[in-house]
Amino acid sequence: MVAPARPAKQEQEPASDTITEVAPGVLRLQLPISLPGLGHVNCYALEDDRGVAVVDPGLPGPASEKALLGRLAAAGFSVGHVHTVVVTHSHPDHFGGANRLRRESGAEIVTHRLFRNWWDPGDDAELDPADPVDRDGVDTTDGAPGRSVFDGTTPWGGERVRLPRSMRTRALAMRTVARRRFMPPQPTVRVEEAEVLRLAGRDWVAVHTPGHTPDHLCLFDPAEGVLLSGDHVLPTITPHISGVGAGPDPLAGFFASLERMHTLEGVRTVLPAHGHPFADLGERADAIRRHHDERLATLRAASAGLGPATVAELSRELFSPRAWGPMAESETYAHLEHLRLAGHATRAETAGTLRYTVA
Ligand SMILES: [Zn+2]
Ligand SMILES: [Zn+2]
Repeated sequence: MVAPARPAKQEQEPASDTITEVAPGVLRLQLPISLPGLGHVNCYALEDDRGVAVVDPGLPGPASEKALLGRLAAAGFSVGHVHTVVVTHSHPDHFGGANRLRRESGAEIVTHRLFRNWWDPGDDAELDPADPVDRDGVDTTDGAPGRSVFDGTTPWGGERVRLPRSMRTRALAMRTVARRRFMPPQPTVRVEEAEVLRLAGRDWVAVHTPGHTPDHLCLFDPAEGVLLSGDHVLPTITPHISGVGAGPDPLAGFFASLERMHTLEGVRTVLPAHGHPFADLGERADAIRRHHDERLATLRAASAGLGPATVAELSRELFSPRAWGPMAESETYAHLEHLRLAGHATRAETAGTLRYTVA
């Protein structure tokens, strides 16, 4: 018998069924997710005299919902106790149980104002849940929006991704199922930056943190010094930054949202959506920023050797081979556009394919 390998990153650990009070009145219920880079999602339950609010109720589907209801019951709550569901951002591992909780308890569904549904007709930025990409220490597996791999269209061009016909048919059928199953909830309360929510008997301030997604929302509790950080700041991995569907410079937005962490005073406990609670918010935000600065430096060095190069070519300089593909290219594109808009790169287009030169 060979013992199973210990997960390298805490975000990959399988969901524990132990319920822990991680801050006053805040319980952590870990829910399973079986995606290559992530072993669990932390659903937080905040108790007050009205019942309980839950933050990020896991993936859609029967297995996760069973775990969610089982953990709530173990903590002494029935579905009827849930008065509020907060969803930090529009990824399926964060909104999964929301529709069911709303159906069964009438709970309010709270999101940032920009919370979006990638399945909107006419919206070409689509999740492809059948194609999660695992890469070293990067959270790419929870469904960042990106254009469909089926038609191969990307803003940066290059080789089109064409699956064989039989695989395409199967993938399209799966996508129909996924559309139904991964249908995001309709928020009943859309909050703005600095709005205050009353949860666990105290005030939580909405902090809009675009970057990982444009609609990412953190909640800050100044009384106890607690930050619910979602996927914005994770303890040991960095969130995926998509170059598509998030404005001209999503990386700049993410950097501003990391900088924002230094303005929250008195944070003692950061409660991330994956991994364990931690205390050093500012240091962790700076470390994530350094990771991206290193990537920008890597692109500069690679460009010097390659000359004008496509996004796909440059993505291979940033990512390990098992991560190559549309998501790696999308994040590379975000970095290249960031450099270009800052005047540090140029791009030229030939037959629909962009080639970048980083100065
Ligand atoms: Zn996410
Ligand atoms: Zn996530």
